[in-house]
Amino acid sequence: MAEKNYRLCISCRQTAHRDTLWRVVRTFPDHQVQLDEGTGRSAYLCPQASCLEAAQKKNRLSRMLRTQVPPEIYQALSQRLMEDLDRGGPDKNSY
Ligand SMILES: [Zn+2]
Repeated sequence: MAEKNYRLCISCRQTAHRDTLWRVVRTFPDHQVQLDEGTGRSAYLCPQASCLEAAQKKNRLSRMLRTQVPPEIYQALSQRLMEDLDRGGPDKNSY
C-alpha cells in the first residue's frame, strides 16, 4: 500500500519512506540544485554518513540529477548529520 511514497536511496539502494529520506532536487527550469523542496528531478538519500559519502565519492548524485552538485549541498547534508548526532541520533560515534 502507498508504494509511491517509497523511494530508493541512490547509494545503498534500499527503499524507505520518502519522509525519512533526504531529497535533493534539480529544479526546473533553472537547474538549481537544492534540498527538500522544489519541482524537478529528484534524488533520494538515506540520512546516513555512509550513503552521503558514497553519493559524493561516486558522483551518484550528480549523475542522477544530470547536473553538477555543488559542494554546498554535501556540506549542508553533513551538517544535518552533525546536528542529528548532537541530538543523540541512533548512530552516534564515540569520538
Ligand atoms: Zn542509503
